[in-house]
Amino acid sequence: MPESPLALVTGASRGIGAAVARALAPTHRVLLGGRDVDALAEQAVESPGAEPWQVDLSDLDGVRAAVTGIDRLDVLVHSAGTAELGTIESAAPSAWRANFEVNVIAVAELTRLLLPALRAAHGHVVVINSGQGLAARAGWGPYAASKHAVRAFADALRAEEPGIRVTSVYPGRTDTDMQQTIVVGQGKDYTPGDYLRPDSVAAAVLSAVTASPDAHLTDISVRPRPH
Ligand code: NAP
Repeated sequence: MPESPLALVTGASRGIGAAVARALAPTHRVLLGGRDVDALAEQAVESPGAEPWQVDLSDLDGVRAAVTGIDRLDVLVHSAGTAELGTIESAAPSAWRANFEVNVIAVAELTRLLLPALRAAHGHVVVINSGQGLAARAGWGPYAASKHAVRAFADALRAEEPGIRVTSVYPGRTDTDMQQTIVVGQGKDYTPGDYLRPDSVAAAVLSAVTASPDAHLTDISVRPRPH
């Protein structure tokens, strides 16, 4: 029997990445990216057949070591991300660096290292972007700038690698630890039902990955809807 296709999902220990891993697990062998070994082990139980792929994406030597042996990769989903917010007046250089390090540089370097494996499989790269990657709101500059940058990364990759499908997914506010931290940090009450469910974003990712081979879903916006 042929082996199932291989998918690597970063940020798979929690939130949107964990939901994407669960959505892909029935049809793919999934590598679960993240730093927290215990959380990855828990997700491996939720996604039968999936295996932890523990690496801190801000440690590029560690990233290089972790991709060793991946010669063929069908799906690479970049969901790991960080959100350091602030106004232009208040944001320190460290906030800009933190966003760019995980949301842009790690995405570019991991993709670059895995390009031969992606080419070998005529693979698919999915970047979990954000509504902030399309238009920046006041107070979100450092994060929004990183998401605009990673949109440019995805567009350039698509233009340079016609054999690989590249999809940017732009979720609105989604019920995850990241969103809860932001809302609580703004001194507001957090009501999970006000936000998109991570499974709904994962369904959009799955629609891109399972699109017929002649179709290339390049950009998908997913907005929360009152319910
Ligand atoms: P989350 O619940 O905070 O999860 C973040 C994930 O990223 C975790 O798995 C975390 O791993 C991983 N991560 C962060 N820094 C890392 C690093 N240096 N090395 C390895 N892994 C790292 O966030 P989320 O809401 O699911 O966000 C997922 C993506 O969606 C992000 O790109 C975010 O910008 C985007 N997004 C989120 C929303 C939203 O409302 N939640 C809306 C639009 C877009 P650990 O467990 O090891 O920390």
